Amino acid sequence: MKTITILIPAYNEEAVIDKMYEKLDSVCGGLPQYQFEFLFVNDGSTDRTLEQIKAFKQNDPRVQYVDLSRNFGKEPAMLAGFDYANGDALITIDADLQQPPEMFAEMIQWWEKGYDDVYAVRKEREGETWLKKWTSTMYYRVLQKVAKVKVYPQAGDFRLLDKKCIQALTKLREHERYTKGMYGWIGFKKKEISYIAEARAGGETKWNISDLMNLALNGITSYSTIPLRIWSIIGTSISILSFIYLAVEIIRTALFGANVDGYPSLIAGILFLGGIQLISLGIIGEYLGRVFIETKERPVYFIQEYSEGETEEDEAVP
Ligand code: UDP
Ligand code: MG
Repeated sequence: MKTITILIPAYNEEAVIDKMYEKLDSVCGGLPQYQFEFLFVNDGSTDRTLEQIKAFKQNDPRVQYVDLSRNFGKEPAMLAGFDYANGDALITIDADLQQPPEMFAEMIQWWEKGYDDVYAVRKEREGETWLKKWTSTMYYRVLQKVAKVKVYPQAGDFRLLDKKCIQALTKLREHERYTKGMYGWIGFKKKEISYIAEARAGGETKWNISDLMNLALNGITSYSTIPLRIWSIIGTSISILSFIYLAVEIIRTALFGANVDGYPSLIAGILFLGGIQLISLGIIGEYLGRVFIETKERPVYFIQEYSEGETEEDEAVP
C-alpha cells in the first residue's frame, strides 16, 4: 500500500487545528486504498498547538509531529517536514483550512497517472483585500520577467509532490528560502489543477507586511541577478550622456566664453547621481547580505522533538 504524507506547518493555530485534524481524518478516511501520515510541524507555537497535536497522536497512529526549537518561519518549517516525511508522496497544506483537503483525491489521481508535482492554483481569494491581490499580481509579473525559472503565480504551497521531488527539495538547503521558486527550479512532471480558496477558518494570518516584503525580495534575489545588472546599464547611459554634455559645454565656452550660471542644475546633477549611487549600493548590499547568510552554512532549523523519537543530529547535512 502506498503511503501519503500530509504535511501541515503550524504556528499558533490552536483556533483551527482541531477542525483541520477532523477534516483530514474524514477526507483521508474516504481514501482507504492509501496509508496516510499526518505530519504536523510545530513551528515554535506559543499557544496550545503542540498539546493539541499530541492529543491527536494519542489515539491515531497516523499522526506524527516535528517540534522545532523556535519559530523559524513557514519555509524552514516546510523543509523540516520534507526531511521527516516517510511517504511515497507528500501533500503540503496550510493548517487554516484555506485550502480544501477535498482536493486530495484529485491530486492523488494525477499522481497515479504519472505526474510528480500536482499543484493547486487558487481561483478566488476570499477574505483578501483588493490591495493585496493587486500587489501580488504585479509582483509575480515582475518576478516572471526577471527570473530564469518559471514561477506559477497563483500556485501556493498546496500541492502533491512525489518522493523524487521531496528528495530534490531537501538537497536545496539555502537559508533565505523561496520554496515557490524551488518547485519550478527542480523540474519534474507538473500538473496544474484549480481550487477555490476559502477564508481562514479561525485565528489570523501569521504574515505581516515585512515578512511578505522579505519573501518577495527573496523571490527576486534568489532567482535573478538582473537588479545588479540594471545599474551597469544605468551607469553606462549616464556616463555617455554626461560625456555629450561635456562636449557641448566645451564648444559653447569656446564660442561664447565662460558662463558661471547653472548652480541649480549643478546641485540637481550631484543629488541625482548621489541618489543613484546609493540605490545601487543598496542593491549590491541585498545580494551581499544573502551571500553572508548563506556562507555561514548554518542549519536551516533545529528540532526539539520528533514524535518517532529519533532525535539524532539529523538536520541532514547538505
Ligand atoms: N506558518 C508557519 N510558520 C510561520 C508562519 C506561518 O508554520 O512562521 C504556517 C501557518 O501555521 C499556516 C501556514 O504557514 O499553516 C500559512 O500561514 P498563514 O495562513 O498565516 O498565511 P496566509 O494564508 O495568510 O498566506
Ligand atoms: Mg492562510
